[in-house]
Amino acid sequence: MGAALTDIAGLDAHLIDCRACPRLVEWRETVAREKRASFRDETYWGRPVPGFGPADASLLIVGLAPAAHGANRTGRMFTGDRSGDFLYAALHAVGLASQPTATRIGDGLELFGVRITSPVHCAPPANKPTPQERDNCRHWLDAELRILQPGLRSVIVLGGFGWQSLLPVLDDAGWAVPRPRPKFGHGAHVELAGAERPLHLFGCYHVSQQNTFTGRLTPAMLESVLSDAARVAGLPRSPDERDARSI
Ligand code: SF4
Repeated sequence: MGAALTDIAGLDAHLIDCRACPRLVEWRETVAREKRASFRDETYWGRPVPGFGPADASLLIVGLAPAAHGANRTGRMFTGDRSGDFLYAALHAVGLASQPTATRIGDGLELFGVRITSPVHCAPPANKPTPQERDNCRHWLDAELRILQPGLRSVIVLGGFGWQSLLPVLDDAGWAVPRPRPKFGHGAHVELAGAERPLHLFGCYHVSQQNTFTGRLTPAMLESVLSDAARVAGLPRSPDERDARSI
């Protein structure tokens, strides 16, 4: 398996067959079988959900885990639920996505220099993976980070679970994570020294309905973090700027 994990396509192809967490395999497949009434005519994905976005992304967004009737249904990160609606609208607003909506694989959505992943790739009951499940899934995040590493300039972590999961992985991959480890907070920004170049790590509240419906996380707050992370990642922010760079 090691040789195939040196590129994103190989990583994703292996990931979608993973059955390492019995509780999550049972849950993702039960949800896919029983379905929510409003999606009863759809075929749920019901498998591990791979990262979404280009293999040469310079900005990585790290969430928590797929939602039962969102990504576990559609097979693409943050696609088909309210959290994704919020995230992709903001990505589009700051010029990092081709459209503001994400409904299904094949809907035309493209991310510009951004990849989205999670420390746990299967939908967990109540959106709460166990520490063991997080640890089981860690090698996938580790492999993804190592593949992205040459071009990676910034990472946005959505929520404390992702933050705690990611720091040891960044440490192992060779970035200098300070001791004591930096604390998660919305607006946190830490620059980690690396062998080649620094990595900018940003904290942002998760785009869960719990946060977005209550106004704890507003579109302006998310767009501000996205803009800061895109700027330090050197990403173009408009179609004109993208076209100019590709000439
Ligand atoms: S959560 Fe990760 S390690 Fe566990 S079954 Fe899913 S892909 Fe495999």
